Amino acid sequence: MNIHEYQAKEIFRQHGIPVPPGEVATTAEQAEKIAAKLGTKVVVKAQVHAGGRGKAGGVKLAATPAQAREVASEILGMQIKGLTVARVLVTPAEEIEHEAYVGAIVDRASGTVVLMASPEGGIDIEEVAAKTPELIFREHVDPRYGLLPHQASRLAHKLYPGDPGRARQAADIIRKLYASMVDAGASLIEINPLITTPSGELRAIDAKINIDDNELSRREEISALRDIESEAPAEVEARSKGLTYIKLEGNVGCCVNGAGLAMATMDLVKHYGGEPANFLDIGGSSSPEKVVTALRIIMADPAVKSILFNIFGGITRCDDVANGIVEASKGIELKVPITIRLTGTNEQQAVRILEGAGFSAMTDMDEAVRKAVELAGN
Ligand code: GDP
Ligand code: MN
Repeated sequence: MNIHEYQAKEIFRQHGIPVPPGEVATTAEQAEKIAAKLGTKVVVKAQVHAGGRGKAGGVKLAATPAQAREVASEILGMQIKGLTVARVLVTPAEEIEHEAYVGAIVDRASGTVVLMASPEGGIDIEEVAAKTPELIFREHVDPRYGLLPHQASRLAHKLYPGDPGRARQAADIIRKLYASMVDAGASLIEINPLITTPSGELRAIDAKINIDDNELSRREEISALRDIESEAPAEVEARSKGLTYIKLEGNVGCCVNGAGLAMATMDLVKHYGGEPANFLDIGGSSSPEKVVTALRIIMADPAVKSILFNIFGGITRCDDVANGIVEASKGIELKVPITIRLTGTNEQQAVRILEGAGFSAMTDMDEAVRKAVELAGN
């Protein structure tokens, strides 16, 4: 789960990381009032679950409260990476002498948290990793001991070589960042940029935290941070029905049971020259209702030109899926061709149900994928 910058900054604040003050506004008038109360130049920042807000025009400076109102009215309602901005954070504009990066992720290869720091902050860390990988420094944290003081201090000295004043502040921030990560159950945490002010103080002026979804059922105060309105509506609906749906860029809609088979299906779609429009896992125990929801979600994406069902019946019963497809075809207009491949539990019944309703089904996966890709016009 993603949380907003202002929420992540609150977590930083609770852990003692230096963060500028600020308040959230949902209207331009509120933004003006907050700017007047702060009594300084401000930055108005879009609160959406997307990176690169600065480049997209979602972060703007304002010298006066009237100007804050003006830029807030520009930012509120704007679209960034397909998401509509409903809130802005109004925060004092900091003078920036230097921008660094500090972050941590759960690294699957080593099975540990890896802390990363770079003196090249402000821009995407992926860009730094691609162009100047030697400017990213790392420390792996052994989960048995947690982050050791010398690790934080080693990273801090690489960040600000020859500057013990800033290195001391950075080591402290890095320790608190790691504590925030563990405490919030985050899978990713970032300060980008960690700025140096002209008087030599470090401050976190941006904050990003991804919460591990497994944490949500255990921690009420963390799951309360979810802002459903700012998530992609199709993904929210899918989750509420027990489906896993991720929208992608292609035009072949995929409806599959099991994450492994879904991955294999997407690979095969690409292999035959197509592009998957989504990842969709209807889960182990399917019911006709789940299939109806899945079809509705896929069909609502205007990019989809062809739909592929790929079902391997185990606990999932093929007849359940067939009934779902038939039921859905009564309720919603099927605007694009559907290719169905199913095999396994109750396969024969499924074929009968489908053929009775004018659909056909195949059992060969390659053949089905090739056909679905072709039907999408690829
Ligand atoms: P992002 O683009 O979504 O990562 O949003 P950021 O909060 O990181 O802001 C993007 C960039 O805007 C930063 O790297 C800064 O260069 C600039 N910026 C953000 N806040 C301030 C501020 O308070 N003062 C100044 N001068 N620049 C800022
Ligand atoms: Mn940033």
